[in-house]
This record gives sequence, C-alpha cells and structure tokens, in this order.
Amino acid sequence: MDALVKKYRKPGLWLEKVDIPSLKYGEVMVKIHKTAICGTDVHIYNWDKWSQETIPVPMTIGHEFVGEIVELGQGVVDLHVGDIVSGEGHIVCGKCRNCLAGRRHLCKDTQGVGVNRTGIFSEYVALPASNIWVPHGNIPEDIISIFDPLGNAAHTALSFDLLGEDVLITGAGPIGAMAVAIARHAGARFIVVSDVNPYRLALAKKMGADRVVDVTKEKLSDVLNELDMAEGFDVGLEMSGNGSAFNDMIDLMVHGGKIAMLGIQAEGTVIDWNKIVFNGLQIKGIYGREMYETWYKMNSMLQTGMDVSSIITHHFHYTDYEKGFEAMRSGQSGKVILEWE
Ligand code: NAD
Ligand code: ZN
Repeated sequence: MDALVKKYRKPGLWLEKVDIPSLKYGEVMVKIHKTAICGTDVHIYNWDKWSQETIPVPMTIGHEFVGEIVELGQGVVDLHVGDIVSGEGHIVCGKCRNCLAGRRHLCKDTQGVGVNRTGIFSEYVALPASNIWVPHGNIPEDIISIFDPLGNAAHTALSFDLLGEDVLITGAGPIGAMAVAIARHAGARFIVVSDVNPYRLALAKKMGADRVVDVTKEKLSDVLNELDMAEGFDVGLEMSGNGSAFNDMIDLMVHGGKIAMLGIQAEGTVIDWNKIVFNGLQIKGIYGREMYETWYKMNSMLQTGMDVSSIITHHFHYTDYEKGFEAMRSGQSGKVILEWE
C-alpha cells in the first residue's frame, strides 16, 4: 500500500510502498478516507530540532483521519465492519495512576500515533479499538477527519465556564480559529482574537470572533475600552505558542482570570510571575484531548449547530502531498485535507 514516510533524517516526506499492517489482539483495521495535516506533521517534514530528537526513522507519520473499519481483530467488541470512524492519536498505557482513575489524557506513558509509533498517512491503518471514536449524528467526513485538532480546541476552550464571559484567544491558527466557534457555542459574550497574520485573522472572524486584532498594527489593550470591558478578559486561551502573546494575555486578564494554555512556548520564555500571584490568575496546561469526554462534547456541539466547516481551506489527493505541506507552511491556510480514495 502507499504511505507517506519519514524515510531519511533530513527535510521532506516520501511516498513509499509499505506492507499492509497485520492486526494484533484488540486492534481494528481502518481503510483511510481522508487525513488532515497537523502543525506537528509540518515540524516533522521540516526536520526541526524537536523532530530530530523525537521521530524514529523510517516511519509513516500523520494522526488526523477519518476512515472505515474493514476488519476486526480478536477480542474487539462493539465496533463493526463498515463503521465510519476517527480516532484518538494518543495511545495510553492503561495501567498508571491517572489511566486507572479514568484521566487517560494525563497518562505518564503516552505514545503519539505518527510521532512515537506508525502513523495514519497510509491506505490502511491498524489501531487499538480503545482509540477509535464512532461519531454520532450526520457529520460530514471532512469534519470527522479534523476531530483530533478540534478536540485540542474543545479541551482548551471548555476548561473553564464561558457562559457570559469575555474571552481572549491569542493565535488564530487552525486550533485558535476553531476555539472561536466553540466559545461562541458555549455562550461567551465577547470573543477577541489576536494574531500577526491577516489571513488567519480573517479566518477567526469567519468563525465568529467579535473583534480580531493584528498585534503588529494595533494594541490589544485598546480593544478593552472599545468593547466596554474595563476590567479585562475573564478567560484566556493561549493558542499561539508565542511568548509576547502570552505576556499580553497575562497583562489583560481580569483579577482572578483563568488561562488555558495549549500553545507550546519556546524554551526560556519569561513572564512576570508576580502578575500571576498578585492578580490571582489561574493557569491550566492542556495536553491532547480528554478521553473521551472531549470527544463527546465536540460531537454534541457539532450535532447542535456548531459549524467549523470554514476552517477547511484546501483539499489535495495524497499523491499531491507536497502541495498540501506547502499550503500549511505558507500560513495562508486553515486545515488542509489529503484525500485517500
Ligand atoms: P499554528 O502555528 O498554526 O498557529 C499559531 C498562530 O499564532 C499562527 O497563526 C501565528 O501567526 C500566531 N502568532 C504568532 N505570533 C503571535 C503573536 N505575537 N500574537 C498572536 N498570535 C501570534 O498552530 P495550531 O496548529 O493552531 O496550534 C496552536 C498551538 O497549540 C501551537 O503552539 C501548537 O504547537 C500547540 N499545540 C499544542 C497541543 C497540546 O496538546 N498542548 C496540541 C496541538 C497543538
Ligand atoms: Zn497511563
């Protein structure tokens, strides 16, 4: 079968013939319909420092998908051949303290699909049945293929009560832009989004932001007065991974404000800790998605009118994957889908 493989320890990705995997106990075989490209895949393509230290080579990469179950391994119950499914990209140990307590997103031994073990950019994939999500309702396959990053946005945005609250989202990448739709659906009052990229800010606006701010041209603090919210933002969703954006957020939070942090900060990022202390701020780190509470909530929101379809800006056939990665690298894209049928 065809697969997109990190074959050499250098920038690039290679379309290769690999063996169809054999099913182990408790696994299902999925025929891939669509995959989406994640920022992580771009890091691996570019072969940055993190990738060089993390990715085994050669390995098929990718973790965002929708597909169809075509075979059940021994011991699999409650799933069926023909089910259209997506899946959780974090494989957990099931044995550590957090796993046993049902907090599987906090597993101490998480393995990333397409990061630490074989990924899903291929025609067929074998995955543990416990990682499969069968969507409820009539959700288009395009949307099911982005459940993983939509889940990052949902896990972050739903960390704190948003009803009637004023929300600042720093970073309007695909995840920040999807968080806008979630915050809107969850009943936020004002949603303000910052970025440095006009294309991305336009996307955030399309997803329902009240006000977008290009921080290279405008000061975020000016928006507080404009929207008549004198004291600051109630909830902050850090989705840029940029230290200056994170510092802006800390400065503009109401006393007692709550920050959920998804963005991965650069080594050595400095903040003024006394603003956290004296302003009584709460900061919660977010990793992955809650298994499977986040999946349940995002599925429910999609069934009750939340629309994230405008985040998908590009489709390519998998053999045109270079164009897909180019679109992602350009910054002039939302989610990019590769078609496998
Ligand atoms: P992305 O890189 O596409 O988006 C980040 C956005 O931040 C970009 O649009 C960029 O222009 C913007 N930005 C840069 N400087 C800024 C500034 N000063 N102020 C405001 N915005 C600025 O990333 P994404 O795929 O949307 O993911 C968002 C973040 O979440 C990234 O940092 C990513 O690494 C991280 N992430 C974390 C997890 C997790 O489990 N913790 C999972 C997925 C992604
Ligand atoms: Zn565990």
